[in-house]
Amino acid sequence: MSSVGRTVGLFGGTFDPVHQGHLDLACHVLERCGLDNLLFIPAPRPPHKGRPSASFAHRVAMLEAALVDCPDGGRMRCSAIEAELPEPSYTIHTVEALIRRQPDCRYALVIGADSLFDLPHWYRAAELLALIDLIVVRRDRIEPTAIGTTLATLDSSFQGDEHHHRWRNSTGRTVTYLDDIELPVSSSSIREDLALGREPAMLPSAVLAYIKTHHLYGWRNSA
Ligand code: ATP
Repeated sequence: MSSVGRTVGLFGGTFDPVHQGHLDLACHVLERCGLDNLLFIPAPRPPHKGRPSASFAHRVAMLEAALVDCPDGGRMRCSAIEAELPEPSYTIHTVEALIRRQPDCRYALVIGADSLFDLPHWYRAAELLALIDLIVVRRDRIEPTAIGTTLATLDSSFQGDEHHHRWRNSTGRTVTYLDDIELPVSSSSIREDLALGREPAMLPSAVLAYIKTHHLYGWRNSA
C-alpha cells in the first residue's frame, strides 16, 4: 500500500500495562484529528521513568492483544521499532528512523498533557518540534495558556491561537490541544490494583487475561 501523503499518529509510552485510557485516547485522536493511522510505540527503556515492571515482550504482547478488539477499522497497530534503536529510547531517534523509512508520511506525536510539561527536558526537544506535529490530550485540568508558555520555552516562533487550542511555528508544524476527553486512569493505579489482587476498571479484558496467564504485576489471585 502507498504511504504517500498519509498522516500517522505516533503514540509513545511505557504501556506498563496498556489501559483503556490509552485506547480511548488513541481512538479519539484518530477521529478528531483525521489521522490515517496511529502507531502505539512502546519504549524498551523510557528515558524519564524507572525500569518498567513488565518486560518489553510482555508489554508488546499486551498491546497487540488490546488492539485486536479495538473498533478502529485496523488503523491502529503496535510498532516495536524502538527495540531496534539504541537505548534509552529517545523519541527524536524514533521519529528520524520513521522519516528515513517512510519520508512521504506526515507524523504527529500524541502525548498526554503531563508529558507536554516534561517536553522541555526531552533530548533534542526543539529539533523534534521542527520534525513533527504535536497533539496534546488533556490530563487533569490545565489552562491552554500553560501550553503556550511551555511551547515558547522550546521555540519562540510558536504563534498561538489559544481560543482554538492551536499553535504553529516557523517550520509550519502545529500543536493541537484536545480537552474534550478526560480519562481518569493510569498504568500505575492499575499496577497497584493488580498487586492487591483486585481486577482494575479500565483494563481491557484481553489484557487482564494476559496478565493472569503470565502472573504479571504480582497477580496471585488463584480464583
Ligand atoms: P504510569 O502511571 O506508569 O506513569 P501512564 O498511565 O502515564 O503510566 P504511559 O504509558 O506512561 O502511561 O503513557 C503514555 C502516554 O499516554 C503519555 O504521553 C501519557 O501522558 C499518556 N496518557 C496515559 N494515560 C493517560 C490519560 N489517562 N489521559 C491522558 N493521557 C494519558
